[in-house]
Amino acid sequence: MSNSKRDTIAVRTGIATDTQHQAVVPPLYLSTNFTFPEFGAVPKYDYARGGNPTRSHLETALTELEGGAGAVVTSCGMSAINLLVSLLDSDDLIIAPHDCYGGTYRLFDSRSKKGAFSVEFVDQSDNEALQKALARKPKLVMVETPSNPLLRVVDIAAICEQAHKVGAWVAVDNTFLSPVLQQPLTLGADFVIHSTTKYINGHSDSVGGAVVAKDPELAESLAWWGNCIGATGNAFDSFMTLRGLRTLGARMRQHERGAEEILAYLAKESAVRKIYHPSLKEHPGHEIAVKQQSGFGGMLSFELDADLEGLKVFLGALKLFSLAESLGGVESLVTHPGSMTHRAMSDEAQAEAGLAPTLLRLSVGLEDPQDLIADLQHAFRTLGDNRS
Ligand SMILES: *Cc1c(COP(=O)(O)O)cnc(C)c1O
Repeated sequence: MSNSKRDTIAVRTGIATDTQHQAVVPPLYLSTNFTFPEFGAVPKYDYARGGNPTRSHLETALTELEGGAGAVVTSCGMSAINLLVSLLDSDDLIIAPHDCYGGTYRLFDSRSKKGAFSVEFVDQSDNEALQKALARKPKLVMVETPSNPLLRVVDIAAICEQAHKVGAWVAVDNTFLSPVLQQPLTLGADFVIHSTTKYINGHSDSVGGAVVAKDPELAESLAWWGNCIGATGNAFDSFMTLRGLRTLGARMRQHERGAEEILAYLAKESAVRKIYHPSLKEHPGHEIAVKQQSGFGGMLSFELDADLEGLKVFLGALKLFSLAESLGGVESLVTHPGSMTHRAMSDEAQAEAGLAPTLLRLSVGLEDPQDLIADLQHAFRTLGDNRS
């Protein structure tokens, strides 16, 4: 199965494998425990924290989709990252992106202050800064590309090559593109992280995560630690996520098509100051994105040419974009990073990170793109009327 095309893997994993009733869709096993066939004979599954047949199907699918040796499905994206760093010792160093996901920043920062490991946050697109950090011989280089919310892109293959020279592992958070549009293990990475809450489940009704490892021994080690610290995901969420995963390929292609149409529309809109999307030729990461991604994805950001009052009017006029955090669901969302996902950062820190006060992030859903454009058009018109 591992060489099958990705859509086939996503749709077929676990299908028609039920030996009890020949159910086509693998059943949901909610049982926390499993009987031992006889004294001393340990079954494949004994207790659901360590392993569950429903979770196993999702782990198999994600392993094959990412081209890894094994995966652990976790209770959320953060527990996936927390599980990964369980492999580190107190004298190990992590190099993480300066603009990484806020929860990742908080985890690394808080755990390092407790002495679990050291961490250095670096702009990984600045080769000189990266070289300097790598000279400190990190154990783990964490990569996130495209980044949130400015969709900055870094070269996974180049970072892996340099990191491996100093003996570091590379883990890539692949949440924004999913294995359909980017395969970090193929580009040289050792681990892939997912918040399956986003595109992989894709329906905004289940929180989950995963770590996929390229090396079988490291995969074993992660499974051991997953059971040890209790990071593993539950059966029901695994079932939901596997159900969502079935349509991942079709969804990603349609998310991308929607984003393309919206980008073309936004380019003509005079109240848009700047657009951030790797598909744009002027985007600094465009060439790397073309090289390492098989698509540009459905996330985009833009700066509204307005003050905060105008921003409020604009957001209030949108009907098909719900004002909410998170991303990757079938429904379109608009996020104002400054007051939502990145509100923990001071105004100065936001400015330094390049987050303009009127920056908006769109997660383009699967509604008809023409309806989404009409909705944006209406909001821009309302903003204009409010000014004049
Ligand atoms: C959401 C997200 C996470 C954290 O995942 P949770 O499922 O919310 O714990 C990690 N990385 C990225 C890029 C995310 O978008």
